Amino acid sequence: MSYAAFYRRSIEQPEAFWDEQARLIEWQTPYSKVLDYSRAPFTNWYVGGITNLCHNAIDRHLAKRSNQPALIWVSTEVDREVTYTYAQLHAQVQQMAAVLKAQGVGKGDRVLIYMPMIPEAAFAMLACVRIGAIHSVVFGGFASVSLASRIDDAEPKVIVSADAGSRGGKVVPYKGLLDEAIHLAKSKPSKVILVDRGLADMPMTPGRDEAYADLAARHEGVRVVCEWVEASHPSYTLYTSGTTGRPKGVQRDTGGYMVNLAASMKNIFMCEPGETYFSTSDIGWVVGHSYIIYGPLLHGMATIMYEGLPIRPDAGIWWSLVEKYKVAAMFSAPTAVRVLKKQDPAYLTRYDLSSLKALFLAGEPLDEPTAQWIAQALNRPIIDNYWQTETGAPVLTIANGIESKPSKFGSPGIPMYGFNVKLFDESTGAELTDANQKGVVALEGPLPPGFMQTVWRDDQRYVSTYWKSIPGREVYSSFDWGIRDEDGYFFILGRTDDVINVAGHRLGTREIEESISSHPLVAEVAVVGVADQLKGQVAMAFAVLKDASKAAVPADALRLEGEIMKVVDDQLGAVARPARVRFVTLLPKTRSGKLLRRAIQAVCEGRDPGDLTTIEDPNALQQVKDLVQGG
Ligand code: ATP
Ligand code: MG
Repeated sequence: MSYAAFYRRSIEQPEAFWDEQARLIEWQTPYSKVLDYSRAPFTNWYVGGITNLCHNAIDRHLAKRSNQPALIWVSTEVDREVTYTYAQLHAQVQQMAAVLKAQGVGKGDRVLIYMPMIPEAAFAMLACVRIGAIHSVVFGGFASVSLASRIDDAEPKVIVSADAGSRGGKVVPYKGLLDEAIHLAKSKPSKVILVDRGLADMPMTPGRDEAYADLAARHEGVRVVCEWVEASHPSYTLYTSGTTGRPKGVQRDTGGYMVNLAASMKNIFMCEPGETYFSTSDIGWVVGHSYIIYGPLLHGMATIMYEGLPIRPDAGIWWSLVEKYKVAAMFSAPTAVRVLKKQDPAYLTRYDLSSLKALFLAGEPLDEPTAQWIAQALNRPIIDNYWQTETGAPVLTIANGIESKPSKFGSPGIPMYGFNVKLFDESTGAELTDANQKGVVALEGPLPPGFMQTVWRDDQRYVSTYWKSIPGREVYSSFDWGIRDEDGYFFILGRTDDVINVAGHRLGTREIEESISSHPLVAEVAVVGVADQLKGQVAMAFAVLKDASKAAVPADALRLEGEIMKVVDDQLGAVARPARVRFVTLLPKTRSGKLLRRAIQAVCEGRDPGDLTTIEDPNALQQVKDLVQGG
């Protein structure tokens, strides 16, 4: 079938289209209506349908796949590898479900999961949805303040956690951070269930804290039936990365999410049941939810859950796993590729990668040098895909499972089925239909199954944040800025708040960054717009060099700054030339690897950088501060 026809049907006849896709999953009671859009922009998919996410991810595969690997856990932190078959995963999840039920957790109750990348984290997620509880996974790298705000938002009855995580061989104790977070939070969980990995001290609060091993011992070999829930029953809440401000609590349904994920496994990721999927993300992010846990399992695949760094014991580790487990599709982020790029590319060619159909990358713009480098090193298709925590699955990419289409460097691709992607002028609200016009990337409703239902407990914030930002339009704004070329391929140019206005010229920080990145000595760069009395705004660049010694003395730094400015002049014109190019060894990023431009901008303008709860390393922002204050 042609992708164009497939796509057109999804937009023109969404009910018929998604009715067909819904056959990919099992319903305990069939739905009576595919879509109720009477409360637009809220969608209610598969009205009256009764189902269960855990049933579809595990139980329904048992007849055919009970001895097939389901979850492959690999930890280079504690040097362990464990494979759970579907039957074993089924048993583990039921045991965890029994433990949660015994602590009083039932349908609609929230369970907060604050865990390292260990199998029990996956068991806990699956156990929650099995019994109709709503999980809220908080990335294990967050400290107490971020965790406390999420506890207060989710108001969990129970928290599942562990003694510690590990990063680069160093133990990262969790329990102290968790205790501090519960102390700070207004909403107190009645129970805290702790997995003891034997990595760190785990002082227990009597009456509140329980060791998972003790509780689980009471429920060995139990059967816990699936709680059948309505398609619209929330499966989980999850926070956005906080790149542009206070994180938003995204609420996801059950039925629609399953259908969209199941469809994406074949159509987008070109995967077959029985194959192995490897997403290098973390369960704390949406990619981890959709493509470490639920998507691959819904599709009857084995999924690899990896605890560790991409370069330890060496930069060949991921590729050795591809060979060993015959990985069919791999999913990672440009930030991880940039880490590998600093290593010897020989590590990537040492292993047999013949099972690998493609490497999918998402999360941030995939710049051309990075894309070219990894494409060459792996000799496999590199498929960019664009989406958000809110969307649950890719919005822009290539649906090679339907029809093979070429990728274009710099573009994540074309709109995926179900997503009516449009561009609007951000100030007039006019729709931009010609090729190569810059506008805000927006989605016209009804949004497809699997899209966020609402902001957790805040319908009003959902509507006012996402649906009211483009003048005169009732469309979902992505807050990303893009263009569509004559072939219908989209290019993402950055966040809408990353547009800068230099003497009346509107420039995307991303364009300037790409230009600077093309200088051979530059590894990475952030560009922000800074208020300027004369020009309104000027661009400021902070660059990380491949070799920091190249700008160690002021004279070298100045010369390099001039060279880089010349590159921008030549490529984009003098209007885009940054007022300064400064050199740092690290850029401020979120824990998920996204550039915190708004924080850099605030520091440059002498303002308070705002919510920094998701920052990876505060030192990075300090470097910027020191440079700015040093003049
Ligand atoms: P917040 O919404 O709290 O500011 P966030 O937008 O960073 O945080 P996520 O949902 O994790 O939270 O990230 C989605 C964003 O990541 C997109 O809106 C886009 O800006 C960026 N992004 C994701 N994939 C791509 C891609 N392939 N190319 C370019 N940008 C991407
Ligand atoms: Mg966002």
